[in-house]
Amino acid sequence: RSGFAALIGRPNVGKSTLLNQLTGEKIAIVSPKPQTTRNRILGVVTRPEGQVAFIDTPGIHQAKGELNRYMVETALQAAEEVDLVLFVIESVPGEKPEIGPGNRMILERLQRIGKPTFLVINKIDAIPKALVLPLIERYRNEFPFAEVVPISAREGDGVDRLFQAVLGHL
Ligand code: GDP
Ligand code: MG
Repeated sequence: RSGFAALIGRPNVGKSTLLNQLTGEKIAIVSPKPQTTRNRILGVVTRPEGQVAFIDTPGIHQAKGELNRYMVETALQAAEEVDLVLFVIESVPGEKPEIGPGNRMILERLQRIGKPTFLVINKIDAIPKALVLPLIERYRNEFPFAEVVPISAREGDGVDRLFQAVLGHL
């Protein structure tokens, strides 16, 4: 099996950290500063079970200014070109999670693009386990995700499972 998957999501949710964890290399710059990833970055993971090219993209947000708008379009274009979209969000504290306007806008764009899409819930190291399920339910109401995979990109938890799930959809 082989194919292309794009990492799509708001700034700072951990897309670049995930690419680095998947590839085991520091190919994408990770930073607490938004807009660190300015271009597409490709990381190829090759294992006996298959090969996946992951494309890291700039964060999608309400862009002001030409460069920012260009970066957002770059990310959405990547989503159009791949076999599978990994929509990355970060875990949020609170028992009644809200999706928020930023993620809602991305979901609307992804609906139109119409690619098989995973919900990747990152930073689960930062919230109590009991809060992950309400978050999953909230998002599942909004979008027909092909898979939902909670991970910690920083710690590596769930990342192998994510890779296997990606292969399963190629
Ligand atoms: P991107 O803008 O989506 O590419 O996000 P980055 O990968 O640059 O990460 C943004 C910030 O979130 C950095 O400070 C990372 O160290 C942090 N971060 C990324 N993944 C995790 C995670 O799994 N857990 C925690 N606690 N922080 C993370
Ligand atoms: Mg990045």
